[in-house]
Amino acid sequence: MKIIIVGAGPAGLAAYLHLKKHLRLSPDNSSHQLSIFESHRSNINVQTSSLAELNASTALVGGGLGVGPNGMRVVRKLDPQIHDRLENEGFVCDNFTFRSARGFVLATTPATDRKELPEHCVSIARHTVWECLKDAVGEDNISFRKVSGAYRNEAGKPCIKFADKGEDEQADLIIGADGVWSKVKDAALEGIEDKGQYDAVSEGLLGVGGFVEMPLPDHVLRDKTLCFTFGRNGFFGYGSHRPANQNQMMWWSTYQDDSLPDKKVIDRDRILEELRKRHQDWKDPVIHDIINKVQVDSVYPTWTLPELPTWGGNGFILIGDAAHALQSTSGQGVSQALEDSLTLALLLRGFLQKAASGSMTEEEAIDRTAKTLYQIRNPRVQKIAAFAAQSASGKRELTLVAEFMMCFFLGLIGKFPSVGKLLLGNYNNELYDWDAEKLVEEALSLQ
Ligand SMILES: Cc1cc2nc3c(=O)[nH]c(=O)nc-3n(C[C@H](O)[C@H](O)[C@H](O)COP(=O)(O)OP(=O)(O)OC[C@H]3O[C@@H](n4cnc5c(N)ncnc54)[C@H](O)[C@@H]3O)c2cc1C
Repeated sequence: MKIIIVGAGPAGLAAYLHLKKHLRLSPDNSSHQLSIFESHRSNINVQTSSLAELNASTALVGGGLGVGPNGMRVVRKLDPQIHDRLENEGFVCDNFTFRSARGFVLATTPATDRKELPEHCVSIARHTVWECLKDAVGEDNISFRKVSGAYRNEAGKPCIKFADKGEDEQADLIIGADGVWSKVKDAALEGIEDKGQYDAVSEGLLGVGGFVEMPLPDHVLRDKTLCFTFGRNGFFGYGSHRPANQNQMMWWSTYQDDSLPDKKVIDRDRILEELRKRHQDWKDPVIHDIINKVQVDSVYPTWTLPELPTWGGNGFILIGDAAHALQSTSGQGVSQALEDSLTLALLLRGFLQKAASGSMTEEEAIDRTAKTLYQIRNPRVQKIAAFAAQSASGKRELTLVAEFMMCFFLGLIGKFPSVGKLLLGNYNNELYDWDAEKLVEEALSLQ
C-alpha cells in the first residue's frame, strides 16, 4: 500500500512515525510505501513573509508553545527518546499561574496529569518540537515539495499535484496534515455541498511573541510555571522555553485586531510600540522587563476551522490543524495533532488486519479508518474548541464589568477548585485522561 503524507508539521511527522511503528514498516519501506511532502525547508522570516506564508506553517514560524501532558504521553508511547529530548530541551512545568493585569494572582492550577508516572506540560520553542520530530523521521525521508492540490483520478485513486509542475503522485491513502490552509481538504470533502462554509475563519485576534535572554523570575523557577495574565485590553503570557539554567524566556501577547494585517502592514516598529503601550500600565514587573528588551519576532493572526462534517473518505484523511485548527487559547493544537496521528495509525493497523483476514478490502479498510477516526476524535476536539472559545473572550477588549467578572471567576476557581469543578466539570481530567488505545479497541470490536 502506498501512503502519502502532505505536510511535515507536528501532525504529519508524528503520523509518519506512528505509521512506521504500528504498520511495522520495514526500513526499506517494502511492505508499505510511506512518503511525506513538505513545502517549507526551514524557519520563515517574519519580515519578508507574506501573511499566507505566516499562516501556512505554524510549526516553522517562531514563537513558543506548551505541549500538554496528554500530548507528552502520546510522545512517550511513540518513542521515549523523543519524549526525553523534548523534556531536556524545553522547560518542564508543574503549574499554570493566572494573573490579572492589576497585579493579582488569580489562580494556580497543576500542569501535570497527576498520574503515577506523571506527564507535565512542556513549554518549548515551536521550532524545537518540529526539530525533535523531524530528526526522528530523518530529513532525508522528507521531500521538500509544495503540493498545489489533490484529486481522485479516473481510476478513483487519490492523487496530489505539485506547485513545481512535476509529475502527479498517486497513492492508496493521502493524509492531509498540511495545516489550516490545507490543499488536501477540498478532495477530502468531496461530495459535501457548499464547501466554502468550511474555510478558515479569522478570530480577529493577533498574537505577537518571541524569545528573550534574561534570568528566570523567582516565581517561574520556584513554581515551575507558565504565567498567563489577562487585562482589559489583551493578554500576556510568559515562561521559560529552555531548561532553567539557560535563562531563556518565551513570551507572547494577544490582542483584538479585526483588521487583518497583510504583508505591507506588518510593521515591526509599530507593533513593538503598540505592544509597549498596551501593557504599560500592567502591574507585573516581569512583563515590563520583557517588553523593554524584546524585538517582535513573529506575528500570528488566529485562524480557526469550523467543525467539518467529515475528516475524509475516498482515500483522503485529514489530521491536525487541517481537520480542526483550534484557538491558540486551547494550548492543545500540537497535543491534538499528536493524538490524531496515534489514533489514525492504530485504526489503520486494525482495519488492515481485518482486510488481511479477508473480511474487507484494503479500500474499505482505509474508508473505515477515515470514518472511525472522525467518530472517535471529532467530539473531543469540538469540546476543546468550545472551551477554548470561551477562554479566548478574555483576550479581547473588555469592559470594566467584564474584566471584573473574568477576574472574579478565575479567582473563585483558584481559591475553591470544587466550585470550578461544579461550573466547568472535570475538564482537566477529561483532557488528560484520554486513551486512544482503549477507544480504538472498542471501535474495532464493533466493526
Ligand atoms: C499563536 C499561536 C499559539 C499557539 N500555541 C499553542 C500552544 O501553546 N500549544 C499547542 O499545542 N499548540 C499551540 N498552537 C497551535 C499549534 O501550533 C498548531 O495546532 C500545530 O502546529 C498544528 O500542527 P499541524 O502539523 O497540524 O499543522 P502545522 O503546524 O500548520 O503544519 C503544517 C505543515 O504542512 C506544511 N504545508 C502546508 N501547506 C503545504 C503544501 N501545500 N504542501 C506541502 N506542505 C505544506 C507546512 O509548511 C507545515 O510544516 C498555537 C498556534 C498559534 C498560531
